Amino acid sequence: MAKWVYLFSEGNATMRNLLGGKGANLAEMTNLGLPVPQGFTITTEACTQYYEDGRQINDEIQSQIMEHIEKMEEITGKKFGDKENPLLVSVRSGARASMPGMMDTILNLGLNEEVVDVLSAKSGNPRWAWDCYRRFIQMFSDVVMEVGKKYFEELIDKMKAEKGVTQDVDLTAEDLKDLAGQFKAEYKEKIGADFPTDPKEQLMEAIKAVFRSWDNPRANVYRRDNDIPYSWGTAVNVQMMAFGNMGETSGTGVAFTRDPATGENKLMGEFLMNAQGEDVVAGVRTPQKIDQLREVMPEVYEQFVGITKKLEDHYRDMQDMEFTIEDKHLYMLQTRNGKRTAQAALKIACDLVDEGKISEQEAVAMIDPRNLDTLLHPQFDAKALKEAKAAAKALAASPGAACGKIVFTAEDAKAWNAKGEKVVLVRLETSPEDIEGMKASQGILTVRGGMTSHAAVVARGMGTCCVSGCSEIAMDEANKKFTLAGKEYHEGDWISLDGSTGNIYDGQIPTVDAAIAGEFGRIMAWADKFRTLKVRTNADTPADAKKARELGAEGIGLCRTEHMFFEGDRIDAFREMICSDTVEEREAALEKILPVQQGDFEKLYEALEGNPVTIRFLDPPLHEFVPTEEEDIKKLADAQGKTVEAIKTIIEGLKEFNPMMGHRGCRLTVTYPEIAKMQTKAIIRAAINVSKAHPEWTIKPEIMIPLIGEVKELKYVKDIVVKTADAEIKAAGSALEYEVGTMIEIPRAALTADEIAKEAEFFCFGTNDLTQMTYGFSRDDAGKFLDAYYDAKIFENDPFAKLDQTGVGKLMEMSIKLGKATRPELHVGICGEHGGDPSSVEFCHKIGLDYVSCSPFRVPIARLAAAQAAIKDSRN
Ligand code: ADP
Ligand code: MG
Ligand code: MG
Repeated sequence: MAKWVYLFSEGNATMRNLLGGKGANLAEMTNLGLPVPQGFTITTEACTQYYEDGRQINDEIQSQIMEHIEKMEEITGKKFGDKENPLLVSVRSGARASMPGMMDTILNLGLNEEVVDVLSAKSGNPRWAWDCYRRFIQMFSDVVMEVGKKYFEELIDKMKAEKGVTQDVDLTAEDLKDLAGQFKAEYKEKIGADFPTDPKEQLMEAIKAVFRSWDNPRANVYRRDNDIPYSWGTAVNVQMMAFGNMGETSGTGVAFTRDPATGENKLMGEFLMNAQGEDVVAGVRTPQKIDQLREVMPEVYEQFVGITKKLEDHYRDMQDMEFTIEDKHLYMLQTRNGKRTAQAALKIACDLVDEGKISEQEAVAMIDPRNLDTLLHPQFDAKALKEAKAAAKALAASPGAACGKIVFTAEDAKAWNAKGEKVVLVRLETSPEDIEGMKASQGILTVRGGMTSHAAVVARGMGTCCVSGCSEIAMDEANKKFTLAGKEYHEGDWISLDGSTGNIYDGQIPTVDAAIAGEFGRIMAWADKFRTLKVRTNADTPADAKKARELGAEGIGLCRTEHMFFEGDRIDAFREMICSDTVEEREAALEKILPVQQGDFEKLYEALEGNPVTIRFLDPPLHEFVPTEEEDIKKLADAQGKTVEAIKTIIEGLKEFNPMMGHRGCRLTVTYPEIAKMQTKAIIRAAINVSKAHPEWTIKPEIMIPLIGEVKELKYVKDIVVKTADAEIKAAGSALEYEVGTMIEIPRAALTADEIAKEAEFFCFGTNDLTQMTYGFSRDDAGKFLDAYYDAKIFENDPFAKLDQTGVGKLMEMSIKLGKATRPELHVGICGEHGGDPSSVEFCHKIGLDYVSCSPFRVPIARLAAAQAAIKDSRN
């Protein structure tokens, strides 16, 4: 028979998966001999079983719970509903990963009027007994029956007003008794039944409520944000109560062994006398600083400080603890590795190494890579932010803080920026033509579009703050104004955005630039020592490349050449190329583009100082580049000596039913080989020039052909590249070497990777396309149904943000195996957005990739995640 329930004395800290974090640590503290009110833990497996049984606790689990109630009664010498010595318990949730405040807790369970009378008589403290009872009714009603806290709070406020007092502690025993009566009446009215009096019935209902709370909307969102699988389930802890509300010799508090905001090595915390549970954090009264406990209760304070040291040394990490003092007796109710800011995480890790408590490897392993993001972008000045009130909240699409004057078009953004103004670009949605304007902006705010909209994806790539999908904005783009939260905003008005929370603020909140402080550098240096996976960056411009190098990138894994066509008058020549009728016309336009591309590539090679650079040939459908404005169409027509009508006909002809699966990628080279020839020339000439200027660098261009599905397709394009490149190299009398490889982003390429590898010298997984093509839905449309998929538990995560290891991952693994069987020296990377997602990076390490490539601002995150993957690997 499975064991579903464990006494605290039967568990320990390593049993986290089974007992949840809280349960495992209560057991560990028990083993350490600390004063912990005793009880038992119902396992996470019992929670999973509850859901499997159709949301019911089966007989076997029920009977084990009953057995353990008896054991608990023996251990504590108290009994549920007893006339002499009644047992009261708390029922607390606790998942494997801590989810603070996500699920619910019930205190003082086991009470009814009779028990209250017993407690009053025995303690001579009826105020306490009734306070416990009214709290219990309140929590039970809220958590178990979902009556809603506010009704009870209203009754308390009414009572306080009637009695002319401001604080709960000023209410007398009589008042509280009265309140308990009112609460029960409220319960009966809302639920239609009497408040349960049998402690065992109360307990079963409470346990079910905790299991149920695993599936509440708050918890579901938290799990998605924090990569916690739904399948884990939560444990339930049933623990004897320690009473902090017995009077002035009792109290409750929370403390951290180090400052969770700064990491400073100093005990931090707060407590309240004559209080219980959440009173401290709920702000019913202003709590006292933990240091003051030294004056209030010196002995308890000394004992507590001793325990905090013991716990930190034992866990070798900063601890977040809850305690209660019951009539001068200290009880420990919880300890866990405390949540902390990114800054504090770095400091604490370094300090623990310096104090000789942990190794460098452990320091690297203890930092959550996702946290680093906040350190890499500008932040609001903390003080100014505190005083600000958000006008609205939308999607936190790309982190960082932005403060600037509102502009409504990409052109204005550019123009104002050139004048030295800081701007925030506000648009219904963005399109590829807006890129330059987006770059010129501090932040981007869109009315439409989700986390994977154009604005969001591009902004994340650029490391620019973006808040998207603010449907509360009533936009009037034509008149350059919008209304939000009752206020009309015009061009030039100040606005501030927080891309990490999605908050939008009226007016100016000053920002401070991100600093890569000393500890950050230390941790990163350690990470680099341990990782085996290389980290490259996706960079399209020399500026991005430089930024990424500063952040530790070891090469460029993806340069999207199309992004080089937007700037200045380049787009004009590019449009001429697209709207050519003949090969000659196209070649003439390409001649104009060639020197510009070559110049860009030279700057990239210079920025990379001999580190590898993978350049991808033109990939997107040409339709994305054609002019939409009448005046631009006219300009193009004039330049080419064509009629406006003729241009419009060409544009019309470029339209596709499904551009994502249309005329793009290598297909463009098959139809217009002259484009590939031009790009080859630009790359080879740039490489030769930079090699000459810097003989100390080894420059070996990596030319990447996108969207290959068939080896013959690759061979066809490769032949064009090789012929052109070899001619260039020969003409220059150079000894330059280069490689031709391919993206693996179409499932057919993955399936035939052995064939593809005959021609490809390297593979790079384009997991954005590979995900869309494997699932058969597009990233841009997924926003329409992903929420429904989350609700239905079909998906737990956005597969465009977190790699689908089961399906897409299988294709990747297969490609590597097949590819290396054909060509053992094949090198393999990933350049989809997944390259910067920690769990995806870990997967890439596991399946043997050589490198991941991600946007510049995610490079440190990938470096850390890669190190953690290697450390984990070496421990197994
Ligand atoms: P959370 O995980 O949200 O912190 P907890 O289960 O830790 O929820 O409990 C909420 C509050 O109730 C905490 O302040 C905790 O210290 C207090 N509490 C829980 N169990 C007991 C108990 N047995 N005796 C006294 N206080 C308790
Ligand atoms: Mg807690
Ligand atoms: Mg692609």
